[in-house]
Amino acid sequence: MSVFSHDAFDGHEQVVFCRDAESGLKAIIAIHNTSRGTSLGGCRMWPYANEEEALTDVLRLSRGMTYKSALANLPFGGGKSVIIGNPQTDKTPALFHAMGRFVESLSGRYVVAEDVGISVPDVETMSKETRHVAGIPTGGSGDPSPATAFGVFEGIKAAVAFKLGAPDLKGIRVAVQGLGHVGWELCRLLHEAGAQLIVADLNRQQTQRAVEWFDAQVSAPDAIIREAVSVYAPCALGATINDASIGELRCAIVAGSANNQLAEERHGALLRDRGILYAPDYVINAGGVINISHEKRSTGDKPYVKATAFAHVARIGKTLTEIFEIAERKGISTAQAADRLAEQRFKRAGHRKAA
Ligand code: NAD
Repeated sequence: MSVFSHDAFDGHEQVVFCRDAESGLKAIIAIHNTSRGTSLGGCRMWPYANEEEALTDVLRLSRGMTYKSALANLPFGGGKSVIIGNPQTDKTPALFHAMGRFVESLSGRYVVAEDVGISVPDVETMSKETRHVAGIPTGGSGDPSPATAFGVFEGIKAAVAFKLGAPDLKGIRVAVQGLGHVGWELCRLLHEAGAQLIVADLNRQQTQRAVEWFDAQVSAPDAIIREAVSVYAPCALGATINDASIGELRCAIVAGSANNQLAEERHGALLRDRGILYAPDYVINAGGVINISHEKRSTGDKPYVKATAFAHVARIGKTLTEIFEIAERKGISTAQAADRLAEQRFKRAGHRKAA
């Protein structure tokens, strides 16, 4: 298995392979770029088919965190970790103690938080071995999902203003795919703002609740992407914008929380060709990491203040408007415009650090 010549290596600063025989831990920690500050990113637990798959995932995810932090203007770099294992069957306290010790061994170059397959109690167990953790309730900011949902809500407002010239969301039709931690809270905010909701989830109880609470209309999980709406908000799976779906979209805007919404980079340009405004996923879903970053900045007599953190999250709307304007001016996709802006920011920080 190659590392330096791996397709997704992209100049990573450090990749650490972690093995603890006693607990059975097999993990990889990837630090992509620390030019803006120490690397911050979640830990994912997944039953990867092989080590190559785990390496590819962690390299892509940690690179993504560098871009996300730069565009959210955080004093952090990009990193991520993966534990190879089944989160349903392989979790033990010993595993997370061992993971915590590996994080500690990096002396703060990497700060760990939760991600897919990892819950807040797992991160709390890691915190017994290292203080380089974020997103735990004791002295921290807790579940990042409400902040993520708030950021997506602000992003949708910015996209609707830019594309449709509407001053608010009253009467705007939004299709929300996935009513989990983020999707549910997003629906609550949209409903309060007067939007009309169309929702889908694999869990029927959840869609029924949305009918009762938010007066939502229900669509089938495989049909919601084809609804005629102003905004399609993917809040479940990645890669829903792909060759099969792109021709079927009947929305003016794609703006939701899911990671990696475009199956391939070229789908960003195809959305543009179809006149659909895309809010790049890693920009609009940065609310959780922005919130967590405020926890890591607060020390001693300066505790985490939710209002300050959420005011920062609200700036996602302004950043997206800047990206939409750059894309329009340069005739490129919004995904390309976001990448260029992020690269400018962390490369500039890198030059300053080197000087
Ligand atoms: P979650 O697991 O709480 O919710 C996902 C929901 O989607 C579940 O209710 C599930 O039943 C539903 N779902 C799954 N497949 C579906 C399908 N085919 N059609 C319709 N619904 C389906 O997850 P979450 O924390 O709400 O995150 C949602 C998305 O946002 C994920 O892609 C996640 O990676 C991303 N994200 C989350 C955060 C966060 O703070 N939680 C931050 C950034 C990005």
